[in-house]
Amino acid sequence: MKEYYIAIIKFPLLVTLSLVLLVTAFFGVALGSWFKLGLSGMEIFLFVSGFIILIVLIFGWVLNLMSTHRKIRPRRLEIFCRWMLYNVYYYFAKWLGKISFQKKLDIQESFLNFNNEMVLSAAAKVSHTNILLLLPHCLQRSDCTVRVTGDINNCEDCGRCGIAEIKALAKREEVKAAVATGGSLARKIILDNKPDVIVAVACHRDLVDGMRDSWRHSIYAVLNERPKGPCFETEVSIKTIEFAIKKFK
Ligand code: SF4
Repeated sequence: MKEYYIAIIKFPLLVTLSLVLLVTAFFGVALGSWFKLGLSGMEIFLFVSGFIILIVLIFGWVLNLMSTHRKIRPRRLEIFCRWMLYNVYYYFAKWLGKISFQKKLDIQESFLNFNNEMVLSAAAKVSHTNILLLLPHCLQRSDCTVRVTGDINNCEDCGRCGIAEIKALAKREEVKAAVATGGSLARKIILDNKPDVIVAVACHRDLVDGMRDSWRHSIYAVLNERPKGPCFETEVSIKTIEFAIKKFK
């Protein structure tokens, strides 16, 4: 329970602390220069610019925190909020996590949880008809000769890996399911299907990279399990996928 709680709050905590450090450093330098020597025209310009950037950063972060509980409107503000999350705040958390010796995987997991909260809030009370379930190729048994990359329905339901169960779930819930072998194919599948929302299964790194790559899309992240090591016969909780699909329907 404690670990779950930490997995939830680590990312927002690191971003908030980064911003506090940034604000403290900014005012420390600005006020120090002011009292010591006074400020030249150029310094005033630089400090005013820095102050405006700080205001934008704080405003964007407050919006992001709000987005985990309510839908952000108008749409442009939502896009700004998302862009800041994937392209700015993620790096803040990564930076502070690095200098405070936090595990990279923990920060990524917390970031994915934060993203999921945001996606669920944005999707609340909205019924989505075009849901795409995007799966990694490593879920398939390594000795399976069937090619599921093109079409998951090619799976022959032998039950030796999770693909058969996921195929049945996709059929039952009437959602599209596709298996991608990498980022390029995943991008192509997204472009071809133009989904309202994506439920993506992958490892920490692939999910974070994929999300940052396709940040305009609503992507709910489901982490896979790797009992045999990375990228080899991975597993995933079908219940978690089902939970996500039902939330978006
Ligand atoms: S369940 Fe489907 S994909 Fe998995 S090993 Fe059997 S036939 Fe291959």
